[in-house]
Amino acid sequence: MNALKLQDPFQDPDHANDNAASDTEANEEAGHDRISAILEELSKQWDVTEQALKRIDDRSYGLCISCGKEIGEERLRVNPAAERCVTCESMT
Ligand SMILES: [Zn+2]
Repeated sequence: MNALKLQDPFQDPDHANDNAASDTEANEEAGHDRISAILEELSKQWDVTEQALKRIDDRSYGLCISCGKEIGEERLRVNPAAERCVTCESMT
């Protein structure tokens, strides 16, 4: 009996909100914008990742695309798709 009561959303005073409908609409709108932003970010990440995979293929992975020096293991661990060393990245 207690378990059933817990499953009933109307038992939760937070759900008994008169503005629930309009709030949900606003949240969906915000959610859409957020998803667009995430998709944009993902497609950027995808490009960068693809480039990194190409560099693994031609064995230039881990080398800075600007100065050609090693990017460094620590930086690659944080950002495996890093294209530039810290020095060059800070100049862009
Ligand atoms: Zn560099």
